[in-house]
Amino acid sequence: MRSLGRMATGFVFHIQRFSVADGPGIRTTVFLKGCNLRCFWCHNPESWDAGLSIEEFPERCIGCAECVRACPKGARERVEDRFAFDRERCELCGACVEACVADAIQGVGRRMTVSDTVAELERDRPFFEQSGGGVTVSGGEPLLQAEFVLELLAELGCRGLHTAVDTAGHVSWEVLQRAASLASLVLYDLKAFDGALHASGTGRSNELILENLRRLGDERAPVWVRIPLIPGFNDAPSELAAMADWIGRCRSVLRIELLGYHRLGEGKRDRLGLPRSRAVEPPSVQALRSAASVLEASGKPVVVR
Ligand code: SF4
Ligand code: SF4
Repeated sequence: MRSLGRMATGFVFHIQRFSVADGPGIRTTVFLKGCNLRCFWCHNPESWDAGLSIEEFPERCIGCAECVRACPKGARERVEDRFAFDRERCELCGACVEACVADAIQGVGRRMTVSDTVAELERDRPFFEQSGGGVTVSGGEPLLQAEFVLELLAELGCRGLHTAVDTAGHVSWEVLQRAASLASLVLYDLKAFDGALHASGTGRSNELILENLRRLGDERAPVWVRIPLIPGFNDAPSELAAMADWIGRCRSVLRIELLGYHRLGEGKRDRLGLPRSRAVEPPSVQALRSAASVLEASGKPVVVR
């Protein structure tokens, strides 16, 4: 095995062990900061900003005022019996995170080298080998940190580990093609087929996303398409049928995974100072089954999660 002397760094916000929903087998998923979509149902809003994010847990505050003393920008102050945080003034220096011994203020994101990341991932090799699993690189949109991701995929591939890259596809074809050539599998998130609908839910057109999926099919890159089922957004049979038709034309798509919306992101929005998203109920089991039956028209196996 060759030695690492790599220089690329990435901004990572979480390394999730024992994941069974991010590709085959037991996986360790590396979540990267930064995203160029703003899906209203996102359950990882802490991934949106490319740099450090500040999460607050006021229920843990012990009232020591160390954060107020630490902040060089006057973004924190005591207001009667609580502590206020002015995010407009905050310059994300992280001093309050360091000062808060109660963990009532936490920073999301840390810079890691490829070497550090590989060393951490290698600890899970026995689980990968026993289960047919591996490493998944996710986000956010991981391919916004292309240099880090490409180097990481190359290194893990050299070490004989199965790799998956989880992308929403709103990236340049050159970067996606390179990542697909290095990864064992591409997990491709498709949110909607109708362009106006896609833009209304994610803030971006889906032209590039659909075109990139078509090109992955032409390249014969192994792909699992992942569709989040969001009631009232993309669950109309006509919308699902249009996605099925497009996916069916992509020869290298091996399966479709249908992911039911859940509400786990809501508490995170509060902690990040973000407004709550549109109210959506999670889909029923019957709704998931109905959507899966429409997607089966693609000719691909459909797995409901
Ligand atoms: S440093 Fe932490 S525990 Fe102390 S007042 Fe600030 S938020 Fe509360
Ligand atoms: S991150 Fe820095 S600037 Fe922002 S509130 Fe904390 S101490 Fe102040």
